Amino acid sequence: MDFNLTPEQTGFETAVRRFAQSELARDAVARAHSDDYPWDVARKMARQGLLGITVAEADGGVGGSLMDAVIAIQTVASVCPRSADVVQAGNFGAIRVLAEYGSALQKEKYLRPLLAGEALICVGMTEPDAGSAVTELKTSATPAPGGWRINGSKIFTTHGPHATVILAYVRFGPGTHGIGSVLIDTRAEGVRLGKRSAFMSGEEWVEIFFDNVFVPQDMVVLGEGGFKKQIAGFNVERIGNTSRSVALARYAYEEARQWAMQRRQFGRLLCEFQGLQWKFADMRIKLDAAQLLLYRAAGNADTGFPSATETAIAKAYCNQIGFEVANEALQVMGGMGYSRESLVEYCVRRCRGWMIAGGSIEILKNRIAEGVFERSFPQRAP
Ligand SMILES: Cc1cc2nc3c(=O)[nH]c(=O)nc-3n(C[C@H](O)[C@H](O)[C@H](O)COP(=O)(O)OP(=O)(O)OC[C@H]3O[C@@H](n4cnc5c(N)ncnc54)[C@H](O)[C@@H]3O)c2cc1C
Repeated sequence: MDFNLTPEQTGFETAVRRFAQSELARDAVARAHSDDYPWDVARKMARQGLLGITVAEADGGVGGSLMDAVIAIQTVASVCPRSADVVQAGNFGAIRVLAEYGSALQKEKYLRPLLAGEALICVGMTEPDAGSAVTELKTSATPAPGGWRINGSKIFTTHGPHATVILAYVRFGPGTHGIGSVLIDTRAEGVRLGKRSAFMSGEEWVEIFFDNVFVPQDMVVLGEGGFKKQIAGFNVERIGNTSRSVALARYAYEEARQWAMQRRQFGRLLCEFQGLQWKFADMRIKLDAAQLLLYRAAGNADTGFPSATETAIAKAYCNQIGFEVANEALQVMGGMGYSRESLVEYCVRRCRGWMIAGGSIEILKNRIAEGVFERSFPQRAP
């Protein structure tokens, strides 16, 4: 067992850091507070080979491992937290499911522009009555000549207002077995965006309505019986959220550490107060433990999908401590941490969201508990 990055991984990290510092650092604060999707960053990342890191070379990707993608997203986040969202969208989200299960035609139509940073895919799972209980989703796919008619709606879709295509979870038939997924162009007839809203993080979301939208058969990614495969792919998305939780917490911790070494109160540097030293020691322990859980889940996946249990353990812990560490960093910076002079308050707000998004901490713990007791605990009322 070796807890260090390989020389190749270290070299890759150095190259990504150099790119982030020269291209992303300058506007990091403004970018974090902008409503727009950073398309300019996406195009730069495409040129730099930071989109499709785990996508096969034959499909236009880099052919790397999940660890490579984790190194990229965390390194970018350490310089520009908001730009890490572009790494997420270009490597960890629905794009990974498309690359794994999509047909040659689907990849030609959608994957190529995504890898070029010219398109954006979002995942539409959650519905007004199906959040944690996602298998209760109602959006229906009914047969039509040459394909399917889609009716229903999705909420909380990250990048919903900016996306060009949606990977929508739909119901082809009853039960969990009836769930699959289709690709829907956001400009397709019958797709309607509702009122814009925003999360506490500032990210915008919008309710997406499907009113009898026609989806040709060749735009079905996974048909009936595809739900398990879909969730296996979704574990990659979870690793992306996990990576950013740790990275943004570390960003806030670094800011606070620097602050504590130069801010004086009562004639002493903040770092000389034991009450604050212990906060930093706790933050450091949590960050190190979280990073190791993340590396275990990502490292064991290699170029495939990560284990559901290792992902759940990593995500639950990293989301929890990500928020705790960022919040504690804000506390030791006092009023300055709470203000928009730095991105510490932004990191707190973003980390809070990942405790809910992509499988809340409670839902992940339900899954972990099933492993503990080696049996399933159906949550549905009998
Ligand atoms: C920042 C952010 C980004 C998101 N991005 C997307 C996206 O891109 N696409 C998408 O489809 N969705 C997205 N979501 C939605 C997200 O997946 C849901 O919010 C999440 O699954 C929880 O569903 P809910 O909000 O309906 O809460 P509910 O399911 O109503 O849960 C409310 C609370 O009850 C707890 N709870 C529920 N059931 C149980 C149980 N059985 N045991 C213990 N506790 C339970 C939950 O953990 C939660 O704390 C995003 C959400 C956020 C916050």
